[in-house]
Amino acid sequence: MQRPQTVVFTDLDGTFLDHETYQPGPALEALEELLAVGVAVYFCSAKTRVEQQAIANEFRVDVGFVVENGAAIYATAGAATVFGMPYAQVREALHNAAAACGAAVRGYGDMDVAEVMEHTGLDERRAQYARQREFTESFVIESGEPYELSQAMGELGLRLQRGSRFWTAQGEHDKGMAVRHVTTQLGPNAESFGLGDFDNDLEMLTAVDTPMLVQQHDGTWRDLHVEDMVRLSGIGPVGWCSGAELVLRRHNAR
Ligand SMILES: [Mg+2]
Repeated sequence: MQRPQTVVFTDLDGTFLDHETYQPGPALEALEELLAVGVAVYFCSAKTRVEQQAIANEFRVDVGFVVENGAAIYATAGAATVFGMPYAQVREALHNAAAACGAAVRGYGDMDVAEVMEHTGLDERRAQYARQREFTESFVIESGEPYELSQAMGELGLRLQRGSRFWTAQGEHDKGMAVRHVTTQLGPNAESFGLGDFDNDLEMLTAVDTPMLVQQHDGTWRDLHVEDMVRLSGIGPVGWCSGAELVLRRHNAR
């Protein structure tokens, strides 16, 4: 009988990657160890496919991608599963919703690379990757009430999500939905683990068998209410390594 599959979903910024340097440090070796024993790993974040692919290429790791808040899954074998709405459609609906409630919004699609760099602090290459969106629009609200905008968006089939710098407009999907889909595809005996650091990881962490939280850059754990959450010692990638050890122990015991 084939060995039951183990799968790990990980957030990137502040979790696998250091909050300041965007480097995985010791977590890279821990990730390689997981892959070497046959554990499947998925990046799972708000980042675009191009951004996640660039990170995987940079560190030469063969992982799957859950992109743009669960809008699509790209497995390592190349198969794609899409839950999101096409980007052009999201943008059109967002601008219609803003017009309907008298709000003014400005999205990545309205900005050039320089303006995205200014808003995000990303370098030019990363800002270009971040602009290659397929399913969700990140934007700033220049005037108007978020609550009213969210109501108007809802009528057009869009969800409004709050991020640290931007608001996001997207279809009816979330990271948890995508995580459950991947896990179900792996069969009834698959065991899933999730690694995150912040509020935007809540849906992913709720959807896995073993949710794990790394410490934030100030050394605290975000106060997230998820049943049986494992609080790992270590900030970002350092905590990630302890999480990987736990995954390895469980995987090897199966
Ligand atoms: Mg994070």
